[in-house]
Amino acid sequence: MDMSTKTFQLNNGNSIPAVGLGTWQSKDNATREAVKHALQRGYRHIDTALNYGNEHEVGEGIRASGIPREQIWVTTKLDNHWHHRVREGFELSLQTLGLEYLDLFLIHFPCSTDPNDRAKHLPDWDFVKTWQDMQKLLETGKVRNIGVSNFQISHLERLLNDPSCAVVPAVNQLELHPYNPSPKLLEYCREKNIHCTGYSCLGGHADSAINAHTDLINDAGVVRIARSKGKTPAQILLMWGLQRGTSIIPKSVSPGRIDSNFQLDGWNLTEKEFTELSAIQTRAKVVGDGWMPIRVFLGDDE
Ligand code: NDP
Repeated sequence: MDMSTKTFQLNNGNSIPAVGLGTWQSKDNATREAVKHALQRGYRHIDTALNYGNEHEVGEGIRASGIPREQIWVTTKLDNHWHHRVREGFELSLQTLGLEYLDLFLIHFPCSTDPNDRAKHLPDWDFVKTWQDMQKLLETGKVRNIGVSNFQISHLERLLNDPSCAVVPAVNQLELHPYNPSPKLLEYCREKNIHCTGYSCLGGHADSAINAHTDLINDAGVVRIARSKGKTPAQILLMWGLQRGTSIIPKSVSPGRIDSNFQLDGWNLTEKEFTELSAIQTRAKVVGDGWMPIRVFLGDDE
């Protein structure tokens, strides 16, 4: 099975490309060039967010690639302080990207903050209400799929059990890698027919001063399997994610790494290799919730 053209079917019948390009912390011209390069090399899925401040450059990269819009899957996300202004946040993203429609719009975090004081949770609002407005977006015809991100089992339970929830999220985008495998959450989503996309699959940003880096890419077990197969540690981590049935969105602004992260055709992990990676015991996360007014990562996914 060729992974570069593989898609996963969603609960509404639509199909999401299995491999996408992440863009968190990609800046300015580097974003534009990375998106353009990735699309020209065969990527058909780009992940961004209002919060990344680069939707404009992502849109420019898409247009510069020359690849027809309808062949590309574009995901962006509603920021925490836009929860009670879903339609406006959505239109702002569309406008900034310079696109007529989105393939996937996600609630970035189950946390609704006050735009006037982002350290405060909105007292009269929560993500269940946000989802009511997300559902209304489908009526505009400007978004093909809606979903969530960083939703834990208890968030999903609350959402799915609320009478206002008429549309089951198509996707839950989560931090997923051998140091944060979240098997219970994944199993829960499988039962509910919610596709999971894994973020920080490579363990996050090695050179970032502000974000945790897990050093997963140098994990002895990962490196050993990579050497034995003549693959890069990144390719091993990405294949592990794909073989778990999750789509993956590795971020890179380096043309060489964008290319090698996409060389996933014609090989796979043996059952033994897959099991070895799944049995890694180290635990570490890239994205925390200390900067938000409420706890989001509730530890119910181990
Ligand atoms: P990743 O795990 O994708 O790692 C990115 C880092 O790895 C960068 O420093 C990159 O550097 C480096 N890198 C890329 N390829 C290789 C390689 N082959 N070998 C060695 N190093 C490599 O981290 P992210 O946290 O960015 O996650 C991926 C994407 O997921 C994000 O960009 C974003 O789109 C999404 N995301 C979503 C979140 C959410 O809350 N929904 C939260 C976090 C991420 P370089 O660019 O120099 O190659």
